[in-house]
Amino acid sequence: MSVRTTPRTVAVGALVAAVALAAAALVAVAPLAGTAAPATAATQAPATVPVAGPSCPSGTLSLSIIRSGCTASSGTVRLSDGRTFAVPARGESVVALSVAAPGAAELPEVVVANTGGAGIAVRVDDAWQGAAAAVRQQRSADSAVAGSAATTGTKAATSTKCTSTANVQNRYRWSSPVRWYYNATGSKGTFTQSALQKAANAWTGKITACGKTMTSTAGNTYVRAAGQAPNVTAKGGCSASSGYSVTGWGALPEKTLGVTCVWYDQDGVVQEADQRYSTRYAWSSTASCSGNRYDVQAVATHEWGHLYGLGHVATGTGQVMEAAEGPCALGSRTLGLGDMTGIAAKY
Ligand SMILES: [Zn+2]
Repeated sequence: MSVRTTPRTVAVGALVAAVALAAAALVAVAPLAGTAAPATAATQAPATVPVAGPSCPSGTLSLSIIRSGCTASSGTVRLSDGRTFAVPARGESVVALSVAAPGAAELPEVVVANTGGAGIAVRVDDAWQGAAAAVRQQRSADSAVAGSAATTGTKAATSTKCTSTANVQNRYRWSSPVRWYYNATGSKGTFTQSALQKAANAWTGKITACGKTMTSTAGNTYVRAAGQAPNVTAKGGCSASSGYSVTGWGALPEKTLGVTCVWYDQDGVVQEADQRYSTRYAWSSTASCSGNRYDVQAVATHEWGHLYGLGHVATGTGQVMEAAEGPCALGSRTLGLGDMTGIAAKY
């Protein structure tokens, strides 16, 4: 079973046509065994108890294995592009979001959702795959996502930055300020922690940009230096969550500047978010920036947008949440109108 996808530039959360549902009835409809409930527990039976599929084999799970509807609480999902994702706990999801250098094919956004009894669903950009029952669940959860997915365009001058309201709100959200840790090992610039802090703060409180002021209740608290590395893999996937939100540096695929992994529960409440910035490139984190360097604050402002719950908007909208960012893109240290609108609507 495969899902036809619309072009890759479509923003997060857009729904694909329900062509995959035809096969859904063939899977995960094992007969209800032992429906006679114990007499003492008969008062409040939930309306729909998912029927658990068989356990997945241990180890690496391909999409075709997941498609069988098997259940797992450990192991690793491997995508065809080689990226791996540790299976999140039952009832939890993990998403990997990134930012690319200009002209690069960005890493497709990936969600791995472990529904528990209904199996595992995987979304690559806008196409859900995996266990049919899990796909149905996740697709309907995604349909609640708000925002405006703009159409594609060429990279425009920043003239649309303060006129476009383009924003995409992902499903997940923090219910309290983000408590984050920083591991400076491999850091490619000086003063990176303060640049990261400014990026984190760009989305919080009273935001003034584009001649307007909007208010966001998103928040963050830097806790302390971390000894552990962020749970992001060198291929841009997500390893197992640790319960701590760690930002750090490390290898990433070519042209990928940063990757954020976010873990959230079935209500969309975030539990952890880790960020890795690429040690492959030269970075700058001072007031000015020159040469072929990427500005830590600008790129991190984009990644923190993901971390708080925003997705990519179309190229040409002039927003920080466009999928690619060039060297010394100092303009992306400040939000555009769509960025502000999105964060203020979400928080
Ligand atoms: Zn991004």
